[in-house]
Amino acid sequence: MRVLITNDDGIASPGLQALVNEFAPVAQTFVVAPEGERSATGHAITLHKPLRARAAAIAGATAAWVSNGTPADCVALGMLELVPERPDVVLSGINAGPNLARDLTYSGTVSGAMEGAIFGVPSIAVSVAAFTDPTFPAAAHFTGELVRAILLHGLPTDTLLNVNVPNLPAHRIAGIAITRQSARRYISRLEKRVDPRGQAYYWLTGDPSTQEDVEGTDTWALASNQISVTPITLDMTDDRAFAVLRSWNLAWSPERH
Ligand code: MN
Repeated sequence: MRVLITNDDGIASPGLQALVNEFAPVAQTFVVAPEGERSATGHAITLHKPLRARAAAIAGATAAWVSNGTPADCVALGMLELVPERPDVVLSGINAGPNLARDLTYSGTVSGAMEGAIFGVPSIAVSVAAFTDPTFPAAAHFTGELVRAILLHGLPTDTLLNVNVPNLPAHRIAGIAITRQSARRYISRLEKRVDPRGQAYYWLTGDPSTQEDVEGTDTWALASNQISVTPITLDMTDDRAFAVLRSWNLAWSPERH
């Protein structure tokens, strides 16, 4: 087995090392990761400045590289240039902090896995639901089990998995839920402050949601101490909206343009 691992918290993140530790005994383990924090960079890629990659030392890894790019850049670098043969799976994580609900499009972690899926490789984003004092062993071990299941069963075309693990010791995790993405919104507020020169600046932030978690969603699973596994598809077409848009009877009339 060959795995390609990236992480939006950077090459030195303990969550990345936890994944390497899990896979190194059973797989050729390749790491391509950003040199520093790239959280909340979404699916950004580097097109307007040089993209760099140089060898890095990661304990246990078959080979590792550090890049000035984003997680999506790192996966592309790995797929197109650095990893000598096509990996069987792309892993992005383990992120410190959850990636749930409407936050998915902001997530560098999820975007790393999306990039892997765009290359046609089964891909998983893994996060532990705590920004402070996250513990990774349960999440790393579950990722190992999930990869074994993927190699056994395969994943549908264009599907990636977004996994969020409660920050709990293994015996307190209540189970595994296959979930939907919740509609909950986290970034909901701007803090306005004034700098020492009298200019206003802003800080995007969010308040804990008071919305009830809908059963079967990713946020609900975490709130009930379960591991959340959400299948995500690359096809963003909204099939539900077809009938609505067709009912508008949009017509092209060249003479009016
Ligand atoms: Mn992160």
